[in-house]
Amino acid sequence: QWIYLNGEFVEKDKALVSVYDHGFLYGDGIFEGIRVYNGNIFKCKEHLDRLYDSAKSIMLDIPLSFGDMQNVLVESIRKNELRDGYIRLVVSRGPGDLGLDPRRSPKANVIIIVEQLAIYPEEAYLNGLKTVSVSTRRNIPDALNPKIKSLNYLNNILVKIQANLAGVGEAIMLNSQGYVAEGSSDNIFIVKRGVVYTPPCYVGALEGITRAAIIEICQKVGYPVKEEPFTLHDVYVADEVFFTGTAAEVIAVREVDARIIGSGAAGPITTHLLKEFRSVVEIDGVK
Ligand code: PMP
Repeated sequence: QWIYLNGEFVEKDKALVSVYDHGFLYGDGIFEGIRVYNGNIFKCKEHLDRLYDSAKSIMLDIPLSFGDMQNVLVESIRKNELRDGYIRLVVSRGPGDLGLDPRRSPKANVIIIVEQLAIYPEEAYLNGLKTVSVSTRRNIPDALNPKIKSLNYLNNILVKIQANLAGVGEAIMLNSQGYVAEGSSDNIFIVKRGVVYTPPCYVGALEGITRAAIIEICQKVGYPVKEEPFTLHDVYVADEVFFTGTAAEVIAVREVDARIIGSGAAGPITTHLLKEFRSVVEIDGVK
């Protein structure tokens, strides 16, 4: 397995960065998780747009142009002979001193890890996941603005810990006002009377690439889709609930906080959207 590290491909156990990297010391950096389907990088431009926007927002200079970054992504999957899998692209502030000052970290670290993906079993897509809501709140605006896909994932990790304690794979995070925001690493959708709803990003949701693809598919196939704040009550009484994310794709939810959702398995609209999504991924990508 070859890891891209600052312009070179190195073997996995030689891919090391400094303990003074502010990504390590302070979570100062950004990342993307990207899927490769059939040798194509899915939504490459969208992921890189989000990466470069996140970088600009936190004043982090990525030492590669957009085009060069696209080329090294392609090179990474070629070098690793990956047809289907996952790319983790990390840009950290780089090594500095023990102070916070980013001016002391003049050189960002750019890391690309390409791997096989452990996804949910197909059974989960048919029967849906059990999930719970958790007490960890999504921080909104400022530094933890969910629009910035930063290395500050402590909130999400706390959600994951609560999910683990509840014995579920994904959990629902609210924002500080009690509106449903998203999962630990997935966006959330609900369906009620044929209308598809997802929280607007200002509620505290990442502008997910899969989320955008699903909104687009809804518009194409004719499901009304609304970005509107909603509460746990709306989730409990929804006809269908599903999560979306690069790794999870479109995964149904069959139970939330011990309330059975709809028929207790993947609903018809969720199933249709997953099918449409899987047909899009095969054709839409950078080779
Ligand atoms: N929310 C969070 C907090 C995430 O980390 C992610 C990405 N794994 C998502 C939502 C889903 O976004 P995407 O569809 O771009 O993977």
